[in-house]
Amino acid sequence: KANRKFHPKDTVVDIHGKKIGGGHFQVIAGPCSIESEEQMNSVAKSVAKSGAGFLRGGAFKPRTSPYAFQGLHNEGLKLLLEAKKACGLPVVTELMSVQHIDLFQNVDVIQIGARNMQNFELLKEVGKLKTPVLLKRGLANTLEELLMSAEYIMAGGNENVILCERGIRTFETSTRNTLDLSAIPMLKSKTHLPVIVDPSHACGIRWMVEPMALAAVAAGADGLMIEVHNDPEKALCDGPQSLTPEMFEQLMGKVQSMVQFM
Ligand code: PEP
Ligand code: MN
Repeated sequence: KANRKFHPKDTVVDIHGKKIGGGHFQVIAGPCSIESEEQMNSVAKSVAKSGAGFLRGGAFKPRTSPYAFQGLHNEGLKLLLEAKKACGLPVVTELMSVQHIDLFQNVDVIQIGARNMQNFELLKEVGKLKTPVLLKRGLANTLEELLMSAEYIMAGGNENVILCERGIRTFETSTRNTLDLSAIPMLKSKTHLPVIVDPSHACGIRWMVEPMALAAVAAGADGLMIEVHNDPEKALCDGPQSLTPEMFEQLMGKVQSMVQFM
């Protein structure tokens, strides 16, 4: 179902009138994790003002250490939905377990994180929903494997799948991951699904997010996912890669002028 051979036309995913794919470009922005009402509302307001199309924020966090902040769970989802009301942007947040699906009824886009890209039972469950799914490439997965995971979701009847390149593991250690820019044209040749890029998790370094975001736009991405925090130094998760609202505003200016000419 994801194969372009059988469906030559680009899929346009429509989220309450906001379109992505087939020439429609969107930026998803917000903090790595939902931390407090004040943090969420402050970031939501600033990214909306800068022109983001979607608000992100994690309530269930897939942390490497079980002792690290795991997210505010149900309380976090509530804060995210309140921020959505206040800023008017649809929201994207990660679902880690089938057990939590019922809590995600008012979420506009369900994110399946890199670590769950091949959690096939989870993929089958979101395949039964109508909610669009943002599927992130696994840390060490091929594009073919990413497409087969998309296929799992689509096979269940949910064809609103957005793919996300977020960096992969290589021998290079100077960046958190290595952004595979070639994934963009390659995926777009193999599939009609929209392809977005997350330079924040790919680089792990704040100052590198902008050049990599612009490179992704130049390579034909249908959108970006950018981590933004009102006080990155105090962030409970991924502070070093989070942009300040001012940096995000500057990035948006450059992205918008590039998209206009493409
Ligand atoms: C995230 O987007 O918050 C996240 C955890 O990303 P990834 O699954 O790509 O590591
Ligand atoms: Mn993060």
